[in-house]
Amino acid sequence: MNEMTVNAALPCLIAGKPVLPADGRTIDLLCPSDGKKIAEIAAGGAAEIDQAVRVARSAFEDGAWSTLTALERGRLLRRLGEAIAENAAMLAELEASDTGKPHRQAEADMVAAARYFEFYSGAADKLHGDTIPFLAGYQVQTVYEPYGVVGIIIPWNYPAQMVGRTCAAALAVGNTVVMKPAEEACLTPLKICELAHEVGFPDGAFNVVTGYGHEAGAALTGHPGVDFLSFTGSPQVGVMVQTAAARNHIDCTLELGGKSPQILFADADLDAAIPVVLNAIVQNGGQTCSAGSRALIEASIYDEVIDRLKAGFKDLVAAPWRENGTLGALISAKQKQRVEGYIAAGGGSDAPLIARGRVSPTAPETGNYVAPALFGPVAETHPLAHEEVFGPVLACLKFTDEADAIRIANGTDYGLVAAVWTRDGGRQMRVSKAMQCGQVFINCFGAGGGIELPFGGVRKSGHGREKGFAALHDFTQMKTIVQNHGT
Ligand code: NAD
Repeated sequence: MNEMTVNAALPCLIAGKPVLPADGRTIDLLCPSDGKKIAEIAAGGAAEIDQAVRVARSAFEDGAWSTLTALERGRLLRRLGEAIAENAAMLAELEASDTGKPHRQAEADMVAAARYFEFYSGAADKLHGDTIPFLAGYQVQTVYEPYGVVGIIIPWNYPAQMVGRTCAAALAVGNTVVMKPAEEACLTPLKICELAHEVGFPDGAFNVVTGYGHEAGAALTGHPGVDFLSFTGSPQVGVMVQTAAARNHIDCTLELGGKSPQILFADADLDAAIPVVLNAIVQNGGQTCSAGSRALIEASIYDEVIDRLKAGFKDLVAAPWRENGTLGALISAKQKQRVEGYIAAGGGSDAPLIARGRVSPTAPETGNYVAPALFGPVAETHPLAHEEVFGPVLACLKFTDEADAIRIANGTDYGLVAAVWTRDGGRQMRVSKAMQCGQVFINCFGAGGGIELPFGGVRKSGHGREKGFAALHDFTQMKTIVQNHGT
């Protein structure tokens, strides 16, 4: 057995109490680095979701959460952020063994997870409405009110960060939460929920139900007691979530991935750009919604950029999480198969394979390792040019001028993030404005973790904004109050 093994089945956490499904079903969590079982989680279903939604409703309506002021909520969030920081070493080990990501990256993820709670603790008492000039004798004001019970479904790629990104913001503005983490990786969401109760969160405010998507996830999205849904994952499931939300006449935020371009113009500072372009596709093994999975390169510098990328790819190593390679193993055998399928689909004249990274010789055969792959020039019609691979696969495309770059950049169904690399100030802003996506980086990419930066997509990348102050608006609804006070 792996040394990270947790012995007893991990229960759901409902109103701060451990809950195991009556039928006793569990799901094995496997370490992506070696395929060994590290824990069992409860396979929660409709009954556990119903129980969690009821306690969350009661905490919101008449329980302890409903009586807290914004200041008090903020203080609790701050304590949870501090607890995450104090327990960062333990949490990072859990995250790395659960997801296969390099330990170094799991440590950085815990810093970000703690920072989400710090950011939203400070923001909790700073969301306020407006007064609106109206008729004589009237006073009009707007207030932001929580929805009530928020259902949150997160994926396996950044479990701890996703808890921070969604739960901290939802709780800050007074909602209660029922969260269903991914069945592939959910050790840190369970641990953070436990820490929340240790630092004094009242029962029912923050609940976690583990289980399969088609069972616990579907039960949460369809539950009539849920007032708002936040989903991060695949576009296919996003459609199901939005359909379920529509049936219950509620709103939802969807964050569904992307095919984000790095646009390199001829005057770009390539010494600065190349390391960022490389990192943007191998960070987290490319299993990042905002991965920079397309490099759009101006024709006059195409050969030079490709030479530099090829040299960089030779140094990329996929290794077990403890060895801190450039990337770790992918989350599952299924994900490895999916990524390898895309790599096998390339290699022809419309998507030549031009470089591969390596898998460390120390990597067990039973792990889900994929050597990073570089393709180019990829034809716009090839799947590698417009489909999300969600793995360490970079597609390079050639463009002729600014208009061509914009056309290709906007030429997929997705629209999440873009980067513009040029020294020309006018072009920086023209191209940024033309990008059909939620975030544009100029001469940088994903800089600084971006907790403060509103984030979200258009089209198949989803809708709604998380991160930053914008999330507080997404997790609340505005009410207008009109008072006739007479003249
Ligand atoms: P997924 O959409 O199936 O899973 C994401 C979450 O949704 C998990 O918690 C899962 O249990 C839940 N879920 C699944 N079916 C559900 C249902 N019917 N109702 C409610 N919830 C449900 O994604 P996946 O299968 O883990 O990955 C498939 C692909 O999705 C990846 O290859 C990648 O392209 C994309 N993806 C994107 C992100 C992102 O951050 N945008 C994250 C993970 C995966």
